[in-house]
Amino acid sequence: MEKYDVVICGGGISGSMAAVSAGRLGARVLLIEAQGYLGGMLTAGGVGPMMTFHGGDVQLIEGLMGELADRLRDRGFSPGHIFDSTGYTYTVTPFDREGLKLILDEMTAEAGVNVLFHTLLADVKVREGNISELVLCNKAGLTTCKGVVFIDATGDADLAVKAGVPFTKGREEDGLCQPMTMNLLMYNVDSEKIRNFVKESDEKRLNEEFPELSGRQSHLTLDRAPRLSMPGFTRSFKEAKQRGEITFEREGLLFFETNNPGEFILNTSRILGLDPTDPVDLSQAERLGRQQAQEIVSFVKNHIPGFEKAILSSTGPCIGVRSSRQIVGTYILTQEDLKKTVFFDDAIACYGYPIDVHGPKGQDSEHYFLEYGAYYTIPYGSLINNTIHNLITVGRCISSTFEAQASYRTTPGAGAIGHAGGAAAYLSTQKGGNAHNIDRRELQDLLRAQKAFLPE
Ligand SMILES: Cc1cc2nc3c(=O)[nH]c(=O)nc-3n(C[C@H](O)[C@H](O)[C@H](O)COP(=O)(O)OP(=O)(O)OC[C@H]3O[C@@H](n4cnc5c(N)ncnc54)[C@H](O)[C@@H]3O)c2cc1C
Repeated sequence: MEKYDVVICGGGISGSMAAVSAGRLGARVLLIEAQGYLGGMLTAGGVGPMMTFHGGDVQLIEGLMGELADRLRDRGFSPGHIFDSTGYTYTVTPFDREGLKLILDEMTAEAGVNVLFHTLLADVKVREGNISELVLCNKAGLTTCKGVVFIDATGDADLAVKAGVPFTKGREEDGLCQPMTMNLLMYNVDSEKIRNFVKESDEKRLNEEFPELSGRQSHLTLDRAPRLSMPGFTRSFKEAKQRGEITFEREGLLFFETNNPGEFILNTSRILGLDPTDPVDLSQAERLGRQQAQEIVSFVKNHIPGFEKAILSSTGPCIGVRSSRQIVGTYILTQEDLKKTVFFDDAIACYGYPIDVHGPKGQDSEHYFLEYGAYYTIPYGSLINNTIHNLITVGRCISSTFEAQASYRTTPGAGAIGHAGGAAAYLSTQKGGNAHNIDRRELQDLLRAQKAFLPE
């Protein structure tokens, strides 16, 4: 049986960044991933754009995530960080999904990471408060692997939970998670026609169809974005619901042009009340997601200017999961911490995305915006737990409340947490694997040396 310094479960953005980070520092790293490619929600869930690297005019997410964005841009897979024409954040970073798969392959290979695709975590063996080995399931059947330090980057805290770490799921009052969404990718969209329709709208149409653009953001700034990101067509969507053409709860369309002009991600479907960690619910969500996707396709082709000749190139491929389990770690990050922009002594990343709760019941969405340019920090204490000492958790399932997760869960935040988790895992290998025993200052200095944005 092979023994690694760092074993990472889950090759989404957080697990990939953790692997590159630990690998570059010299650790022998194994990264296992259920799909046949890296990127998690960004590739398997069809999510995009990355949103947002900035806090006001400052780029808060640098380090490995900054490098990833630069490499995507330099290879023609992304226009870079561009103006956010939804008005929701400062910038968005569109990208090409296939390009992202390739760059993540390259970055992990360059860092000497061993990647095992099509491999699921099946079981965990724990001895005296430490994970001793993992049982993996793949084409070879059940195999085991050993490591000094383990990282849970599964998004759902699968590894931590199997190892006995306490967790919460969903919001406190009713345990409901944010809705799942089946994103769709459509091409052959005439984005110029959409822009013109919005710009030519009178006050009444603007208020009815594009309330967000007439509120937070002026529709006149749409041209500042070389790729279009837009919420809206609210009245048309409502009318389609009344006609029975749209059968799920959502207020309107939300769509984002990718790196490829005329290709759009439609983030609009909404699946309520199902548990993303229950295999039966998850299967039902995939079926419902595909049904909703067909409703959306018919609606946009028949009613939305610019989409008349659009073609659906794919759903998902998998259902998108925004939130599920959170570990209960040594510190539980709260929305008050975010709102007060607390700078923790053991801060490992800075982030400024709003609290963005897609309503678990459909109509109960919540948004909280920090002041322009303000940011909060994520403490290392939210990555470690008091049950398993050689385990670090990264990405969207670290220790926090439901509401705090609704902010740092987005890609740049999840990736920056992954970067830090990988560096912490490397340092932990030098402390016999105990992730509690590392020097927080040393971790912060290491992250700064790797160009992470982390003011003293
Ligand atoms: C519909 C939707 C829209 C979104 N929109 C945006 C957006 O516009 N902009 C933005 O920046 N963010 C957006 N997000 C959020 C963002 O994409 C994710 O929160 C972020 O990518 C999470 O990264 P992660 O690495 O923590 O988890 P994930 O991306 O979920 O990665 C987890 C990985 O672990 C693997 N895995 C899971 N369990 C196992 C197991 N047991 N064994 C082996 N492998 C396993 C999975 O296959 C996956 O690759 C959206 C999310 C959703 C669902």
